[in-house]
Amino acid sequence: MLRRLRGLCLPLFLLALALTPVFVYARAGGGQGYSGGGGYSGGGGYSGGGGFGGGSGYGSGHYRGHSPFDKMIDEHPIAFILMVLVIMYLFKRFGNEGVNVYKARTIVRGSLAQRANDMTAALADLTRRDPDFRIEAFLARVSPVFRKVQTAWSNGDMAAVRAFLSDGVIERFTLQLAMNKALGIANRMSAIQVLETRLVQAESAAHFDTLHVHIRASAVDTDVELRAGEVIRNADRFEEEFTEVWSFLRRPGAKTLARPGSLEGHCPNCGAPLQIVDAARCEACRSWVNSGEYDWVLAEITQACEWLPRDPGRAVPGFAELAADDPALNVQFLEDRASVAFWRWQAAHWDERAESLRPVATETFLSSFASSRIGLDSRYKNAAAGSVELLAFEPGEPCDRAHVLVKWCGEALGRKDGRFADEGHVVRHHVLVLLRRHGVRTDPRSGLVSARCPACGAPPSDPTAARCAYCEAAFNDGSRQWVLSEIISRAVWKPPTTPARPSPAPEPVAAALAPPAAPADDWASLLAPADALAILVAAMVADGVVEPRELDFARAHARKHSIPEERIDGLLDAARRNALEVPRPKSPKESEAFLRCMSAMCLADGRISSGETRTLVALGSRLGLDSGRVQKLALEERDAAVRRARQALRPPLSPPPSA
Ligand SMILES: [Zn+2]
Ligand SMILES: [Zn+2]
Repeated sequence: MLRRLRGLCLPLFLLALALTPVFVYARAGGGQGYSGGGGYSGGGGYSGGGGFGGGSGYGSGHYRGHSPFDKMIDEHPIAFILMVLVIMYLFKRFGNEGVNVYKARTIVRGSLAQRANDMTAALADLTRRDPDFRIEAFLARVSPVFRKVQTAWSNGDMAAVRAFLSDGVIERFTLQLAMNKALGIANRMSAIQVLETRLVQAESAAHFDTLHVHIRASAVDTDVELRAGEVIRNADRFEEEFTEVWSFLRRPGAKTLARPGSLEGHCPNCGAPLQIVDAARCEACRSWVNSGEYDWVLAEITQACEWLPRDPGRAVPGFAELAADDPALNVQFLEDRASVAFWRWQAAHWDERAESLRPVATETFLSSFASSRIGLDSRYKNAAAGSVELLAFEPGEPCDRAHVLVKWCGEALGRKDGRFADEGHVVRHHVLVLLRRHGVRTDPRSGLVSARCPACGAPPSDPTAARCAYCEAAFNDGSRQWVLSEIISRAVWKPPTTPARPSPAPEPVAAALAPPAAPADDWASLLAPADALAILVAAMVADGVVEPRELDFARAHARKHSIPEERIDGLLDAARRNALEVPRPKSPKESEAFLRCMSAMCLADGRISSGETRTLVALGSRLGLDSGRVQKLALEERDAAVRRARQALRPPLSPPPSA
């Protein structure tokens, strides 16, 4: 017995040594406190498991018979056996946990490294084309821009910032201001402070460069009743902190200006101070200053929890087929165009007539809107759109189509006995289908600007006209421009059935370092944490019984992804009223995709805790998946995340290919 113990003593001691760093790791509390984004600078530097090399004095050969263990075994055999048992127990008890903590750290570090790699590649590409570009200088321009936009909003007049807002963004602000005015209120933001600006994603693509800036700010947000001038919300002037992602676009040919540009109120083309009235056009040189040709344009504002980093490798189905005949075709323009159409549609609800849709929607859409009472019997207060994402192109005859997802929410007002009454919070996911005659090409000079005559370039004299006042060209027949032809609930939308050949990346993307991530099932690939929460709540409420554990899980998810916790109550309430019009998994395959997506979101802090696993299993059973399957999915997601992380942390084998 003692002989055999003696033979074991070295391996056991080494094991004890080897475990030491794991315990150290465990105490360091890895995996927690992940603050997202910043900090991480560049790829390499991964140091492996750390600290294992320990006991160098234990070279084989000269220990036998001399080691202190032999003495211990001879003198205190019971103590030695106890020690071995304790080590074995500790290994069993904490070994797995140590491995989990280690993997969690790897996942968190890897995802930071991945983002940093992508960002570095995109910024390098941008700087190659525009050597004067400096991200720090750009971020320094963002804070004043943020304050200017808030001030213009509070003053109820966006003219001062029109020059750098995309058409989609200006539509949104214009409509929201008009709605507030109609309600007799104004939203006033004061004591605005920008606490942090940080780049969270940079994209370099064939037609646009994009910089997504995470902005953390605080302000006193009040509603004022216009007639009496009385504060009707937040009268105590409580200061709130909020985070948003502002996305700026610019054409790749544009260069950093040595003088103030459109963000500073000057024409980015000729330098003249801008006096903009209706259209974002410089009076001096007649150029469209918000096209992105000359300077950055604010193209999207998204709440941080609604924002989803763009997958640089995502191929939009049908893009390659259409782009073969239309080289200037691009995703960014279409998304802004869809955004304009969406806000016009909201305006039409509000106005109770289709007028504002006239320039952007087909005649068929206009007449169906006018004839359906649904459009006229409800309107939405404080409507807010999450991200706007192009799902697919559908080449066809006589028209090509583009399917764009708009996730939005608002306070529904329904007509009852001739008056509009509050119906509560609604969350909706809609697919806007835009069409354009087959064979029409995108005007490469138009940049982001869609609010001008596509035939003669004249600014619209009447924002509700269906044809150009100068050249008579129709705006809404799809002969030159993408127009809204249909709006479908995402829950019943089906991807176009055109043979979607596996196309190469839609645009030559510079961020070629992105791993060939297993293509997520389309069903869940575009869900931001806030969307997943809505679907989760919908599933929880489906059979009428909300389990406390699931509610805890929803709360933890909200905390993990900085979603205001009170949103859960709004969602629960909406779900009970059947006003949560979000997609729900309809087949085992979709359920699996959703559970994978939820598991991946749990992994934001690198791990899926046992509590989370139990809730995922419960959720799975609601969605028709057995417990073993759900646990397997969760493990697979974790392992895939570890693999991706290791790949991201590995120093690149060869320099990134130059585009
Ligand atoms: Zn000018
Ligand atoms: Zn015209």
